Formats: sequence, structure tokens, C-alpha cells
Amino acid sequence: MLNIALFGPPGAGKGTQSEFLTKKYNLYYISTGDLLRKEMAGKTRLGLEAQDIIASGGLVPDEIIVQIIEKTITENSGSNGFLFDGFPRTYIQAYILEGLMIKMHTSLNCLISLNVPEEESVKRLMNRGLTSGRSDDNEQIIRNRLKEYSEKTLPVLQFYKEKGIFLEVDGTSGIEKVHDQITEIIRHELSKSLFNIVLFGYPGSGRGSQGKALARHFGLEYVATGPMLDQEIKNNTETGKKIKEHYENGQLVPDEIVVQLIEKKLAESKDVKGFIFKGYPRTLVQSYILDGLLKKHGSSISQIIDIEVPTLELISRLDARSKTEGCMPYDSSTAKIVKRLQEHETKTIPVIEKYKQHHEVTRIDGLGNFNEVFNRIVDAIETSIRRKR
Ligand code: AMP
Repeated sequence: MLNIALFGPPGAGKGTQSEFLTKKYNLYYISTGDLLRKEMAGKTRLGLEAQDIIASGGLVPDEIIVQIIEKTITENSGSNGFLFDGFPRTYIQAYILEGLMIKMHTSLNCLISLNVPEEESVKRLMNRGLTSGRSDDNEQIIRNRLKEYSEKTLPVLQFYKEKGIFLEVDGTSGIEKVHDQITEIIRHELSKSLFNIVLFGYPGSGRGSQGKALARHFGLEYVATGPMLDQEIKNNTETGKKIKEHYENGQLVPDEIVVQLIEKKLAESKDVKGFIFKGYPRTLVQSYILDGLLKKHGSSISQIIDIEVPTLELISRLDARSKTEGCMPYDSSTAKIVKRLQEHETKTIPVIEKYKQHHEVTRIDGLGNFNEVFNRIVDAIETSIRRKR
């Protein structure tokens, strides 16, 4: 997730900049001012409580802000990220935001401050007052809002300076230039975050060969649980012996074994741009485990790819492979192949269905030669990276 807070005095241009940022990065926009105006228009209890305070240019109590913001965040937990405008506006609200982010298993990437001198703010707001119809866009109220800003809101900066995620731009340099400065900051933020792909597909869909080639192409670390388990068998470790038994029965290897191997791999992979997971997660339980493993590294799944190949083609590919040197213990007979396909059907398909609720699952036609399929996947990943950056 990409979570950004836009900061600055009233009239700094937060609303204007938010419009392009939400579109460009596909973020969910949260303006506490807009939410409060909606409550007022609907004459709700919260709206009525906030009304007089807003009209006088004061700040609405944190208790009210928590209620409106928590609901909005929870209802939109599946979004690409949040863009906050006008929040946090007090030191206390900075803590509230921390708590809300923890609840969502994410964090604020940065707070971007649009610096605009007081007289410029007044001028802009007076201008806006000619058309906005807002009760708080008149000079006396504007002065009061700016006073509230310097007394209660400016201390918020200290909070983020201490966290090391405070960045500023010159808010007077014109809409386009401000836009460019913010884009540059976000580009830098995104380049810091890992790009993690989960590659799905039935056994025989080409996940393994495609996964390795994709990892090389994008500079990602390839995490394939199958080969990691095979290596244990080859090394004839105690774990390897247990794994072999499960393989021969056509069963999945217990989570306790797989988790340890993945944890080790993630911990060893320093300075990588991200991971590409193949053959994991295969069950709903494993999908929760993977979220937890990535969270431990301050990360999450960026894209899910599902390679689709018709069943008969899968069987013929696996059968052909069983007659080559690449034959795995688990596709040495038709019965074992069928069992694996069934295992995928009953356990892994529900995982993909679950991901569809909160992630974009990109389906790729897996028919054709290696390069054709590879190019289709590369296009899909590049589109996703472009959209996110
Ligand atoms: P805005 O649209 O952001 O300029 O907000 C308009 C008014 O709504 C402010 O002057 C405050 O009275 C109130 N308001 C908006 N966001 C907050 C917040 N996070 N905390 C307290 N009051 C807020």
C-alpha cells in the first residue's frame, strides 16, 4: 500500500494536488473536511456537533474525527493506499493515524508539506470564497483557521520529523511544478518498496520456467517452495526425509516445514527489489502466512498472476515431462498427476478467489510457446509497475 498525507495551511493546494495524485496512483482519497461537510449536509449527529465549530474556523474534536475516519478506512481496506488531506491536524491525530495504520497492517509512507506563506493562503482562500459557497471562506474566519493551524496543526510536523518521514515542497511554485515535486517524492518512495508477485497456475502451466525467467528479467528473488523442498530431499536432511513421505503420498508438505524454509530465504535476500513466489501460497492458511511473512519485512503482495492452461493440455504436458530427465517424484504416474491437479483445484483455487476480493488478479493465457506466454506476463507486470509508480 502507498499511504501519503498531504499537509499545509488552508489554501495550500492540498485538494487540487489530491485530484491528480488519487488518479495517478489509484489511491483512496480521504479529506476529513469533505467527510465533515457530508455529515453536515446529511444533518447527522456528528455533522450537527461539528457545524458551529467549522463555521467559526476552529478544529473539530479528535473524538469526532476518529469516528468518521475509522469507518472510511475500514470500508476501503482493499484499496491501493490512502491519500489523507487535512488529517492529521493535531498531534493527537498523528497518534490516531499510527493506530489506524497498524490496524490495517500498513504504515504511512510519508507526510508531504506544501509550504505557503500566510498572506498567500489568505489571498487564495478569499478568492476561493467567491465561488466555493463554504461558510468558512471569509477573511475573519480564515485568520482564525490559520491561527488554529499554527497553534495546533504545525506541531504535527515535529512528530513526522522525528519519524524521519517528513518531506516538503514549495507550494507557491505553480500547480504543475508542485505536482512534479510531489511525483518525484512518491517515485522515490515507491522505489524503496519491494515489488512482490505471486505466480499461480496449475501444475504444468509453466509457472516454474516462467517464474525463473521473470525473476531474472525484473531483478526479483525467485522463491519456489517446490525446489526448496527438493533440495532438502537431495541433501537427505531429516526435513528432506519427512518431505519425501508427503510427496510420495501426493500430499502437501506441512506448513511448519515450508514456513521455516521461506523465512530463511527472505532473511538471506538482502538488497533485492522484491520477490516472486511460485507454488506458494497453496492453501488459505498459507495465504495468511505469506501476508504475515511479508509484513515482517514491511511489505505486501503487489501483484498476482494466474497462468491459465486447459486441463487436457496440462495432463499431456505433465505426462511428457514424466518421460524426460525432468521427471519429479510427484509426476511419475498418471494417478499422482491427477491427484496433484485435484489438490490444486480444491485447495489453491479458493486462495485465488480470496485474493480476488482485495487484489487485482491478472489472468494470463498460458497457451503458446514459452516466449509468447513470457511476453504476456511481462506486459502485465510492467503495466502494474507503471500504474503503481
Ligand atoms: P478543510 O476542508 O480541510 O479545510 O476543513 C474544513 C474544516 O473542517 C476545518 O477548518 C475544521 O473545522 C474541520 N476539520 C477538517 N479536518 C479536520 C481534522 N482533521 N481535525 C479537526 N477538524 C477538522
